[in-house]
Amino acid sequence: MSLAKAFAVASATTPLAAFEFERREVGAHDVSIEIAFCGVCHSDIHQVRNEWGNATYPMVPGHEIVGRVTQIGAHVKNFKIGDFAGVGCLVDSCRTCASCKRDLEQFCESGAAFSYNSTEMDRKTPTHGGYSSHIVTDEAFCLKISPKLDLAAAAPLLCAGITTYSPLRHWKVQKGTKVGVVGLGGLGHMAVKLAAAMGAEVTMLSTSAAKEADARALGASGFGLTSDEDTFTRLRGHFDLIINTISAPHDYNKYVGMLRIDGSMVLLGIPPEPLPVAAMGLIFGRKSISGSLIGGIKETQEMLDFCAEHNIVSDIELIPVQQVNEAYERMMKGDVRYRFVLDMKTL
Ligand code: NAP
Ligand code: ZN
Ligand code: ZN
Repeated sequence: MSLAKAFAVASATTPLAAFEFERREVGAHDVSIEIAFCGVCHSDIHQVRNEWGNATYPMVPGHEIVGRVTQIGAHVKNFKIGDFAGVGCLVDSCRTCASCKRDLEQFCESGAAFSYNSTEMDRKTPTHGGYSSHIVTDEAFCLKISPKLDLAAAAPLLCAGITTYSPLRHWKVQKGTKVGVVGLGGLGHMAVKLAAAMGAEVTMLSTSAAKEADARALGASGFGLTSDEDTFTRLRGHFDLIINTISAPHDYNKYVGMLRIDGSMVLLGIPPEPLPVAAMGLIFGRKSISGSLIGGIKETQEMLDFCAEHNIVSDIELIPVQQVNEAYERMMKGDVRYRFVLDMKTL
């Protein structure tokens, strides 16, 4: 066992504060990573505040984890001490079910082990995330990070990156595909960068007029202000694919109207409450609303390699871990450009 320093919450209503806990012994297949940086995902806020109703405490959030390998188990094959490595939302799965065999560990039929607010596959040992000094993870769930990428700015690729890359690939985005990205935050800005790198024609759909210049700099060729009803008329029937990253309740039906025939809107944002969808809007145009959850380990590595090849990282604001509560408040106001990353040496 090894003592980890961390930031954690004790309940849904208390702020994040310093905390200590024991990480497991480094097993034969494990890698221990000294965490250099950890991104702050809106899912951290949802879970810390128990907005999805599944919170367990104490909770050490964080699933955009990067750092250096400091220890390896006797049977580790793919990592050596000193390597850059990352851990995302997944830390284990059953590895034998149909989903795991298809490299879709996020849909493991036994339920995957997530990096925090979850348990190991023994269903007893709680997992703790990346707002901490180090993490011990089976190498099968560790990712390789190219030294070509800025390490702090690469951290958000482990969740925001894969969560947007996976649906763009699944829905076969290519040169000329008309992609709308809704919500310019952590996920949204990665969706714009990745879709543009795949050759798509990207339009940013945002509530913030002040983000237009940034959206264009990130790779969007169009911009629509969603507080302006004209946007929904102007872009009626326009998109092949809409990537919806909004974290709060909103009217899905208005966005369905902007899809072309056979178009799909993929929900990535997870507002806690269910929202009504009108059948008629989907039926006229054979449209669909779908969802997507992060991505499997193999695809996460593919995404990291794609980012290294295209020199894509996140636009970040690097902050000391002590400012994380303030960062949450700013994210709640949509005031993030475009991902907070915790500098873990400040722990
Ligand atoms: P974020 O950085 O806070 O960005 C969310 C953006 O949504 C905001 O910047 C804002 O963009 C827009 N927004 C916020 N409130 C809104 C409202 N009331 N109405 C309209 N737009 C609003 O969050 P994130 O980290 O990207 O995460 C986004 C969501 O994805 C969260 O719900 C998170 O839990 C979820 N998520 C899902 C997965 C998955 O696997 N499916 C993975 C990670 C995260 P504008 O200022 O441009 O309007
Ligand atoms: Zn996340
Ligand atoms: Zn499985």
